[in-house]
Amino acid sequence: MDPLKVLLVSSEVAPFAKTGGLADVVTALARHLAKNKHDVRVVMPFYGRLRRSEYEFESLERLADIPMRCGDKRYWFSVASAELPRSKQRVFFVRCPELYDREGIYTQDPDEHLRFGLLSRAALEICQWTQWAPDIVHANDWHTALMPLYLRTVYAWDKLFARTRTVLTIHNIGYQGVVSAEKLRDLELENERRLLYQEDLNDGRLNFLKTGILYADALTTVSKTYAREIQGEELGMGLQGLLRQRDDHLFGIVNGVDHDEWNPSKDTLIPARFSARDLRGKLQNKRELCEKFGLDFDPRAPLIGCVSRLTTQKGFELLPDILPVVLHREDVRLIVLGTGEERYENYFNWLAGAFPRKVAFKAGFDNPLAHWIEAASDMYLMPSRYEPCGLNQMYSLRYGSIPIVRRTGGLADTVRAFDSQSGEGTGFLFDDFTPEALYHAILRALGVWRDPQAWSRLVQNAMREDFSWERQIQHYIELYRRLAPPKR
Ligand code: ADP
Repeated sequence: MDPLKVLLVSSEVAPFAKTGGLADVVTALARHLAKNKHDVRVVMPFYGRLRRSEYEFESLERLADIPMRCGDKRYWFSVASAELPRSKQRVFFVRCPELYDREGIYTQDPDEHLRFGLLSRAALEICQWTQWAPDIVHANDWHTALMPLYLRTVYAWDKLFARTRTVLTIHNIGYQGVVSAEKLRDLELENERRLLYQEDLNDGRLNFLKTGILYADALTTVSKTYAREIQGEELGMGLQGLLRQRDDHLFGIVNGVDHDEWNPSKDTLIPARFSARDLRGKLQNKRELCEKFGLDFDPRAPLIGCVSRLTTQKGFELLPDILPVVLHREDVRLIVLGTGEERYENYFNWLAGAFPRKVAFKAGFDNPLAHWIEAASDMYLMPSRYEPCGLNQMYSLRYGSIPIVRRTGGLADTVRAFDSQSGEGTGFLFDDFTPEALYHAILRALGVWRDPQAWSRLVQNAMREDFSWERQIQHYIELYRRLAPPKR
């Protein structure tokens, strides 16, 4: 069969710009599509924070100073490219300093809609300038969710896109890109009002993600359970009705683990490598991590790890009611790496102050430390309120750090409850979003920890789970093939 031409557009692509799982997923998709011999183009913004010294960016002369009208404003963009590390794949960067030379990836600035509206359009215009006709335009999250509508309106005249089909992946429905309807002008969609959600327009709003859900040929989300959950009241975040209408076009495909990146037997970011057969390195990682952060090291005391964005989604409000009790009563250690809402940072700082030999907290984003925590910890905490897929629990399984997770979204699909009788299962799950339910899950984990034989079986089960992208990518390819009209 002919290779597919896939245009992947995203606000984040690892390692260039990342705040969470989105970046990892887009990169893995690109690498594995390329490995399967498909023709992929990845497009992202050239953010001011990109470390120019670290990557070799090459300006593309043919794609320089391209004007783009955005309502009353006019921008010019150029395109640079760089190699995606560990692949031959090149990534295209949309350069528009006026929009992207800012401190962060995301901003609260009044032109946020333009930053991603321009990205979406620039990606299509790159196709036009290079006469490259994508079979599939794959948009990700709200930032690029207007692409399906753009293809039906602003770019509908161009035959280049006549056979193009669109996929929108919802990595997290909690972020929808809701802006004032006045911004339609900037987005060159003022004349397309009839195609938009009239109720929203009447309320003076435009919702990027909702528009994408309405117009994408297919929708995917990152686990089967989450695909079901977002069609319900509790987790649909207002979009459940529309998602139910589009149920036939909504697919759950769980994310994979990039084994080149997250592999305890090859990981160069951790002090000692290890495998399911030889776990000595894991203990060394734990010892060194405890020493580095001033925690009392004791091989008999389990170390619980947590690496996360510190947001409400991740369920941290369950912790204050139970952690001090657990830390008083049990001989455990806890290490948390995360950045986000101040109240959570304050809480973990307080906790580390209250239990200096047992708890360490590092505020910030630190990829090598994230690897080290996975490699050093015995248990991994993820009490999410909701979790579209979650990557850390899968990394944890691979690194023999047993997940304690809430049974929601991708956590429900990737962690199997450990049963001491049969010796089957890979982690500890709880259902109710309450401190008590989490407390009992932690106690269950500690109970099994005290039985070294059972624990060792559990670790072996966990480390042998296979969540490889090699398998998951086939589901995307099948979907693309179903969408793309056969070539004559
Ligand atoms: P989400 O996308 O909701 O943040 P995921 O579990 O899907 O959650 O993905 C999180 C990714 O971001 C993982 O690769 C994780 O290691 C990484 N990550 C999150 N916070 C940090 C941090 N403070 N430092 C380093 N890596 C982090």
